[in-house]
Amino acid sequence: MEVSPAVRRALKCGRIYIRYAACFFADHIRVIQCYRCLSFGHIAKDCKGEHSCGHCAGAHELKDCKSRSQPPKCFNCERYHGTHNDLKHSAMDTAKCPILGRKIKDRIAYINYN
Ligand SMILES: [Zn+2]
Ligand SMILES: [Zn+2]
Ligand SMILES: [Zn+2]
Repeated sequence: MEVSPAVRRALKCGRIYIRYAACFFADHIRVIQCYRCLSFGHIAKDCKGEHSCGHCAGAHELKDCKSRSQPPKCFNCERYHGTHNDLKHSAMDTAKCPILGRKIKDRIAYINYN
């Protein structure tokens, strides 16, 4: 059975969403983010980074987070912008995280120019 590359990508993404990472869709744009270290462009299965919590930015996995009742803190914003930035969102919040938002915009620009 022949499957087009686009379909295969979609299937792969669906699997990633369930098993390994978050898969974001915004106007059909996909950004792969590792749930283990919260970096972009790879999935947890291929991760060589340290565990970082998607909720509190601590050194543990999101599923082991004990700070769920506290406000979230963005690991990526803290790492790249320091504490002067607004960190009170999850590193996986596409609506609130400016880094994640920019990744999606870059992706849209890339698609538009290619
Ligand atoms: Zn990773
Ligand atoms: Zn945590
Ligand atoms: Zn952020």
